[in-house]
Amino acid sequence: MASATAAAALGATPLRALPTNPDVVIIGAGSAGIAAARRLMAEGLEVVVIEAADQIGGRAVTDTAALGQPFDRGASWLQGPADLPHLDLARDLGFGLVDHSRPRDVLFVGDRQANPTERRQRDRAWSDFYAALSGARGDVSAASVLPMDQPFMDVVATWVGPMDFGVDIDQLSRQDWYAFAEYDVNKLVREGVGTVVARLGADLPVRLNTAARAVDWSGDGVRVETDAGTISARACIVTVSTGVLASGAIRFTPDLPDSKQSAIADLPMGQLIKVGLLFDGERLGLSPNSFVSHSLDGPLPADACYYLAFPAGHDYVTGFIGGQVGRDLEREGEAAMIAYALDRFVSMLGSDARRHFQRATVAAWDTNPLTLGAYSAARPGGFGARRRLAEPLGERVFFAGEAMATPYATLVGGAHLHGERIAGQVADLLEAPGCTGCAARHQHRNRPQEAGE
Ligand SMILES: Cc1cc2nc3c(=O)[nH]c(=O)nc-3n(C[C@H](O)[C@H](O)[C@H](O)COP(=O)(O)OP(=O)(O)OC[C@H]3O[C@@H](n4cnc5c(N)ncnc54)[C@H](O)[C@@H]3O)c2cc1C
Repeated sequence: MASATAAAALGATPLRALPTNPDVVIIGAGSAGIAAARRLMAEGLEVVVIEAADQIGGRAVTDTAALGQPFDRGASWLQGPADLPHLDLARDLGFGLVDHSRPRDVLFVGDRQANPTERRQRDRAWSDFYAALSGARGDVSAASVLPMDQPFMDVVATWVGPMDFGVDIDQLSRQDWYAFAEYDVNKLVREGVGTVVARLGADLPVRLNTAARAVDWSGDGVRVETDAGTISARACIVTVSTGVLASGAIRFTPDLPDSKQSAIADLPMGQLIKVGLLFDGERLGLSPNSFVSHSLDGPLPADACYYLAFPAGHDYVTGFIGGQVGRDLEREGEAAMIAYALDRFVSMLGSDARRHFQRATVAAWDTNPLTLGAYSAARPGGFGARRRLAEPLGERVFFAGEAMATPYATLVGGAHLHGERIAGQVADLLEAPGCTGCAARHQHRNRPQEAGE
């Protein structure tokens, strides 16, 4: 990840003295961890957040250095219910919110734009895609119920599979797709979604550059072993991705029960690469915020890179490459990812695009050890795993994050709302009559504020 991100610039408070024996330790300072910490602190609980990276935000992070303009390396849309907490904050800060609920789209067939008949066929493919997936039954793969011989169905399937869910449609659970809610809001943020998330996390008690290695929940509370020593707490909220959970980077004692392990296995990480292509101010005939896609050659997963042109008026185009094609490409390295996105773009827009191109940056997540993928995608047959993953262990180890955030799973907004909800449960539990340590906490909460606090 780039060093000069908005999150790093705003910073958490890494040097602040943190409680050694907090009520709750939160693993991960992404959207879910930040929301959980804010909620618990509002309840008067003592919290420590452990973050392995050198900045907060997790998969919502805005890079201002690479292109000289805010570039969201992870999430770039604020999507979800109308009362998403991020929206009020962004408005309060005077950030530019760009409605993207009805984006203009440009479809290429080779090096020319699609004609009206082709556009109608593509629109038809979209409605037939929805009809096929909504009308089918059971937790089967999307691929198994789609009329793939229909013109442009492969383009639609590539938008929804690799570009949206991060997986090819034979890996996409129809039922999981069906469980996603329609967005009430869908907005780009000119200053970056990551900047909003960083603001939400500013001033939280976060310990950066500190990986959690083990969670021991064999006793009364929990003991979290980190690079910088062990933290004992009454409860722990784990917010790392299912990729990190599956990798075994955090050891649990006792082991995670079978139901939890199978839930993690049923929620593998999808892949989505973002390539930011900076141009010199030339718009190449494309309106800002329009989507650009192209027809495909050969069977799925076909070579595809789809684009968002000049988001929020910036001078770059974002190329998206997802699913297995993206996974293979990430292993070829940064130059290969940039060439793939640029060559595809030039093949549609013409050599003018190459002349006006300045430089690029890549955000790739599959090999990032702190995520090991972009976001969770339930396997066909794995519907129900999101609910199982969210079940706490022994009323002291809780799980929060995008993977459990139904009906807004995979989203920043969903992760935030889920973190908040789980923190509410933890607060209620620690408040419960007879809970050990509650009296001490009430004393702590009610003590008069000292000067300078
Ligand atoms: C390319 C891409 C595009 C996306 N686009 C959108 C979009 O447009 N809109 C949208 O809403 N969502 C989008 N998302 C998804 C969204 O970014 C995530 O769903 C959300 O940010 C996840 O938040 P989280 O708190 O659940 O997890 P994370 O953000 O992953 O937070 C977990 C934190 O745990 C830390 N961690 C990992 N291991 C350890 C450890 N051992 N010890 C301590 N800390 C650890 C990580 O560094 C991370 O900061 C996108 C994601 C990607 C990758």
